[in-house]
Amino acid sequence: MTSTTAISPLHVGHIRSQIPILSREIKGKPLVYLDNAATTQKPQCVVDALCHYYLQANANVHRGIHTLSEEATHAMEQSRHFLADYLGALPEEIIFTKGTTEAINLVASSLAKGKWFRPGGQILLSYLEHHANIVPWQMVAEQHGLEIKVIPVTDQGELDLAACRALISPNTQMVALGHTSNALGTVNPVREIVAWAREVGALSLVDGAQAMGHTRVNMTQLGADFFAFSAHKAFGPTGVGVLYGRANLLDRMPPYQGGGEMITEVRFEKTTYNTLPFKFEAGTPHISGNIVAAEAVKWFTAHAPEAVAQHEQQLLQRATHRLEAIDGLRIIGQAKHKAPVVSFVVEGVHHHDLAIMLDIEGIAVRTGHHCTQPLMERFGITGTTRASFSLYNTLDEVDFFADMLKRAINKLR
Ligand code: PLP
Repeated sequence: MTSTTAISPLHVGHIRSQIPILSREIKGKPLVYLDNAATTQKPQCVVDALCHYYLQANANVHRGIHTLSEEATHAMEQSRHFLADYLGALPEEIIFTKGTTEAINLVASSLAKGKWFRPGGQILLSYLEHHANIVPWQMVAEQHGLEIKVIPVTDQGELDLAACRALISPNTQMVALGHTSNALGTVNPVREIVAWAREVGALSLVDGAQAMGHTRVNMTQLGADFFAFSAHKAFGPTGVGVLYGRANLLDRMPPYQGGGEMITEVRFEKTTYNTLPFKFEAGTPHISGNIVAAEAVKWFTAHAPEAVAQHEQQLLQRATHRLEAIDGLRIIGQAKHKAPVVSFVVEGVHHHDLAIMLDIEGIAVRTGHHCTQPLMERFGITGTTRASFSLYNTLDEVDFFADMLKRAINKLR
């Protein structure tokens, strides 16, 4: 399949040539990978950096005197510094985690342990949240007598901002909100909502899992107290994520897990904890992944953000336009500001059957509830078929997807 680069200033063909898996065939057909919201594909430089670590630089970090250990420590801390700079944060505000899920669990459980929440206090979430930004708060709410409040979503799939404003009150202690919906693609006005949270003295956490692979995010501009993302959704390895937290908050929060690395001194009578960020990084970290997380961000930022945004919006518009023309197909989520995600249901056709038919054509889409069951319930459905695009997808792929989808629907009806 040829890439359609002419209408886009982004050099999509060149980008694709850097990602070996995109030349794969699936069932004898060229792979058309449209499951980027689940995980993105990896450029050669990211895989090379992982290999380099294990083949040339493997050692445990932080306590070693020997050269290899010093090199590994240096590389990991360099990555932390790079990510801090990129996010507009301090290195001690960057905590390596397993991913977004662990980062949110860390914040919820540490704040609860540190008695941040008062009984009767409220945690504000939204109907758009991934389960990773619901369940940790429910667990804390159950244990500490807190109330969960939920920002409603309009039929377009946007947050109801008037309702949101009304829900934020002096009882609100935490506003935890997704930057971009993985299920519908809605990009939320997070800066505005974070500012409302601050006005009433509430903390804020932004789940940035779906933001980092599409746009630049700056902590100073965002203003949130916490921000979480997973490297694998932004061209990096799985099992690695970052929690950004304001240093003055993290300093006052108790550790999440106990073990090596997170201590200054251990005595049976009393243990003292390490400084930031190590206080929150118990045990041997995912060293290679933490190093390579920066490599992935560097690869992404080598492309102009405006060019990426323009290209992704073209993909979204073409997909929306083509799918809207299919009889009986309903797009769920038509927000004004959307990431390149198209989620839809088709009258009389089950989404799993569609995914199987598309896979035969080499097209990878995701189906089901996308870990957003409350959102599915809001729209009165059990799941959708979701095509999620990335900077390396082409308009030709969108057209092929739309053609094959139409054919599959006709066969299944
Ligand atoms: N938040 C959002 C919006 C997501 O899309 C996902 C994953 O799909 C997560 C959180 C959880 O990410 P991870 O499984 O990498 O921890």
